[in-house]
Amino acid sequence: MSRTGDINEAALRAEIVRTGALLYARGLAHGSAGNLSVRLDDGSILVTPTNSSLGSLTPERLSRVSVDGRHLDGDPPSKEAFFHLAVYEERPAARAVVHLHSTHAVAVSCLCHADSSNVLPPLTAYHVMRVGRLPLVPYFRPGDRALAEAVRGFARGHKAMLLANHGPIVAGATLQEAVQAYEELEETAKLFFLIGNRPAAPLTCEAVEDLQRHFPS
Ligand SMILES: [Zn+2]
Repeated sequence: MSRTGDINEAALRAEIVRTGALLYARGLAHGSAGNLSVRLDDGSILVTPTNSSLGSLTPERLSRVSVDGRHLDGDPPSKEAFFHLAVYEERPAARAVVHLHSTHAVAVSCLCHADSSNVLPPLTAYHVMRVGRLPLVPYFRPGDRALAEAVRGFARGHKAMLLANHGPIVAGATLQEAVQAYEELEETAKLFFLIGNRPAAPLTCEAVEDLQRHFPS
């Protein structure tokens, strides 16, 4: 399993398994939906296998995929591994990607949006700091490689994006950072529906700019 330069690979495999179980237990993942990945030192990625439940992953069965999308070892990778690769390509500092089909975020992805460049209001400072602007990526059939190209177009300028009628993709410098940002996004989506049609007072443009200055992403 371990190769030169990847002394942490065993620890990363264990962290993916632990994180998958946590997300499943928290109800953020169901069935075989969702996938997690981390980037190794050689540029290849460890990604959760196709048709696997995040609640019952096994360290040695995680898939390893090369930069150019070849399956190197482990079980066959998630069909969605290709858009993880597109995010890593566009975000050199990213070392982890979390993609789930969590209920409230997916509900936001199914709404009509007048402005698809940012589909959740800045309700809290933590949403602005951890998630930032959340663009809606147009719908593509599952497995369609055109989805990776669409994701690539948004990934350079955004650490989080929302796939229409599907769910969010969130990148981070570590798996823990990506998970925390994902959870913040899901909580904001929950608040968005809880507030519903009541008159809301999201953060002002000035407050958002102030946060961006103090906590650049
Ligand atoms: Zn998906």
